[in-house]
Order: sequence, then C-alpha cells, then structure tokens
Amino acid sequence: MSGLIREIQAEDYEKEVLGAPLAVLDFYSSECPPCEAFAAKYEPLSEIYGKDVRFFKIFRQQNRDLALKLEVSASPTVLFYRNGKPEGDRLTGGIKRSAVVRNLDNLVGEERAAVLKAGIKRVNTECDVLILGGGPAGLTAGIYCAQARLNTLLADISLTGGYVTTTHQVSNYPGYVEPQPGYMLAHVMSEQAKAAGVAFRAAVEISKLDLPAGKVEIDELETVTAKKIIIATGSSPKPLGLPGEEEYRGNGLSYCSTCDAKYFDGKDVIIIGGGNSAIEESLFIAKFAKTLTVVHQFAELQANKQAQEKVFAEKKISFLFEHEPREFIRHGVMDMEVKAEDLKTGKMKSLRTNGVFIFVGFIPNLELLGSVELERDNWGYIVTDEDMKTTIPNVFAIGDVRSKRYRQITTAVADGTIAAIAISRELG
Ligand SMILES: Cc1cc2nc3c(=O)[nH]c(=O)nc-3n(C[C@H](O)[C@H](O)[C@H](O)COP(=O)(O)OP(=O)(O)OC[C@H]3O[C@@H](n4cnc5c(N)ncnc54)[C@H](O)[C@@H]3O)c2cc1C
Repeated sequence: MSGLIREIQAEDYEKEVLGAPLAVLDFYSSECPPCEAFAAKYEPLSEIYGKDVRFFKIFRQQNRDLALKLEVSASPTVLFYRNGKPEGDRLTGGIKRSAVVRNLDNLVGEERAAVLKAGIKRVNTECDVLILGGGPAGLTAGIYCAQARLNTLLADISLTGGYVTTTHQVSNYPGYVEPQPGYMLAHVMSEQAKAAGVAFRAAVEISKLDLPAGKVEIDELETVTAKKIIIATGSSPKPLGLPGEEEYRGNGLSYCSTCDAKYFDGKDVIIIGGGNSAIEESLFIAKFAKTLTVVHQFAELQANKQAQEKVFAEKKISFLFEHEPREFIRHGVMDMEVKAEDLKTGKMKSLRTNGVFIFVGFIPNLELLGSVELERDNWGYIVTDEDMKTTIPNVFAIGDVRSKRYRQITTAVADGTIAAIAISRELG
C-alpha cells in the first residue's frame, strides 16, 4: 500500500477523516473482486492527489457500526469530505477511475488539479496478448494464453464475468449437475484466469484504441502494446428505454428464452417483438408456458413466412398487434404488469402476466471501435475466419461480438479456445 494511504479504525474516523480539510475514505472488504479492482486505482491516485487530500481506507467487516451509521452497505464504497462534511458522489461497485478523479478534482479545484495532473507518470506496458472483455469468451482465451506461457492482459470496462454474472441460474454449462448461480460461474472463471496468470485491469475506460498498431490506452494513463489483440466485448440486448426496464431486468423481465423459459412452466408470459428472433423464441417458450401474448408494434409480424406459419399454428400463442409497451411494473414474484399503448387509438391497456420476454434484437458492444475499418455483418457483428481472425492482422474477435448463429456460454468459450490456440501457435 502506498505510504499516502492510511488504514484507520472506526475510532479514528472523527479525528482523522472529519478533522482533515480534504479527505477520501474507501470502505473495503476481503474476498471482494470490485475492492481489488478499486485498490489498483486508489494507490496511484493517492500519489497524484495525496499532497492535498488525505487518503484513508477502512475494513468494513471489522467496522460495521461505523459503516451502518454512514449507511455504507456495499464494498467498496468511497466517500469524499471537505472540512468534515461529505461532498460529491458516493461511489460504489465497479468504480471507474474517472469518477474518482472527477470528485478529487472537485475537492482540490480545477487549477490545482491541472498542476497535480501535470506530474502524472504515464505507464507503458508490453504484452503478448491483450484481451478486451472479460466474459466467458475473454476469460477462456486468457486461461489458454496464460497456460501457453504468453504474457496476457485482460481489460474490462466493468468487473469481469460478463453477462453470466447477471444470469440467475445457468443449467446448461457442462461440468455441474445442479444449476449454478451465474455470478458463481463467472467468479470461478475469473479466479481460474487469474490463477493461470492473466493480469486484470477491471472497471477501466478504454480511452484510445489503435488496432492496426496493437495499441490500447487504458484510463488515459497506461498504454498497452500487444502482439495480438482479442476483442471479446459481447453484445447487449437492445433496450426499449422504458420505465421499469432496467429495474426488473432478470427479475420479471428476460432477454433469453434458452435461459429462462423453463421457469415459466404452466405460466402466462408476454413477448415483446415480432421479428424472427421474437417468433422463434416464442415457439421455444411455448414448450413451457401456458399462454403467450405477443405484443407487436406493427399490424403484422416481421418474421419470415415459415416461422409465421408455425407460430400461428401454435394454440397457446395470441397476438396484440399495433400495440407498444410504455412501462413495466412489478407487483410481486411472477406478477408483472405491462402498460401498452394502442397505436390506433392512443388508449393505454394494462396487461397482467407472470413474466415478460423482450426480443427486439441485440447489438454488439463495439462503440470502442469508432471509425476503425473492420469487416462486420449486416447487424454490425465482427466477421472472422475459422481461427477467429478479423480483417485486421493480429486482431481476433470471439464470443457474442462475433458474427455467428448461436450465442451461448459454451459457444463463447469455444471461440476463446480457438483464438488462443491459434495465437499460441503463431507466437510459438
Ligand atoms: C439474460 C441472459 C441470460 C443468459 N443465460 C444463459 C444461459 O443460461 N446459458 C448460456 O449458455 N448462455 C446464456 N446467455 C448467453 C451468454 O450469457 C452469452 O452467450 C455469453 O455471456 C457470451 O460471452 P462473451 O464473453 O462473448 O460476452 P459477455 O458475457 O457479454 O462479456 C463481455 C464482456 O466485455 C466487457 N466489455 C464490453 N465492452 C467493453 C469494452 N469496450 N472494453 C472492454 N470490455 C468491454 C463487458 O463488461 C463484459 O464483461 C444469456 C444471455 C442473456 C442476455
């Protein structure tokens, strides 16, 4: 730990933290991946701002009363103080360096911040393989690369684990008899990659990217030069942007039938969407659910004719055309309400159901590419060859971000395996 960060106990809080003109306090816990990710950022920041701001950390599990008094219920939680009064944001979870910098700049003032930052020492890191994205695909590639003795670095804009972290139960990943909580599976994969020797940069910002040159800048501070870059940034469901959507995601609202249809055995569900994926997924969900209502904005389905014939023949499925959802409300376990607008009359309908599936498409997480030229398919996913190579030399793409038909954990880990073996052969 840097000499500029002081570990305190609850009894020191008033004198040390409240007594300092400017202070920052990190409540941390043991066995806490986001705390580890944050510690790696806290120390360098103390070296920049430590002359002006007192840096403290406190072990939350041993100082529970103080944590409760300050309403700190998660680790890490970072608090900022001016003259004994809290100021600025209360940061928690996968804390970004830029969020801490913003609050520290606010404490010291813009002019002083510029002077302090002028002394920042940039870091240059060289590695064999840089993996962008730490979901199942990136973690698997990391495990294989590190085990092949390649110097491997993995950077994620969030905490590692990827989509699986938010999946309630995973029952189709081989190796486990019982369904596994997604966060556990993600945790074990991350720990395995760490144990194999992969260096992590978690909850970071990718501030610059030069794929042909193999250069990536992290947190405006560290320039990583890699012989090979693997893009494993996954994809995200297209959000409808409606009230309740973010809140009930994974808790009444699902974006994955393979994963969640089985929980709706004998139940009523609503499907939002009318394209191919919505219809194909509805046919799958119909194997479990008692009734399905497909809510679609147009007067007819967009799915291909074959899929339409099948779905119209399925007695359990009914349709509410020319309606658009406006809000999701959760009344309790398996008790959801969809407020939908009749687009012809403008009138609002209230639809009560056990669960809602949203299939309005996915989008690849590729904002980081900017205007970089790299072959993509019609939906924006990266096109690769069989070895996962993209059209830019030494750049690979794996997992859900890649153009392919089936997106599952098993297919993501398969992609990661293939890319890593191809790379280890090339690098010898
Ligand atoms: C709700 C839901 C439930 C699912 N349940 C199952 C299931 O039960 N079984 C199953 O097999 N599959 C399931 N899937 C599919 C499965 O989760 C994905 O196929 C799998 O996670 C893909 O892995 P990935 O590594 O390609 O991407 P992801 O898991 O999406 O990981 C991508 C990672 O990249 C990071 N990232 C994003 N942008 C950047 C960037 N610019 N720079 C650096 N890092 C970045 C993200 O933070 C994330 O950690 C489910 C999917 C959903 C949506």
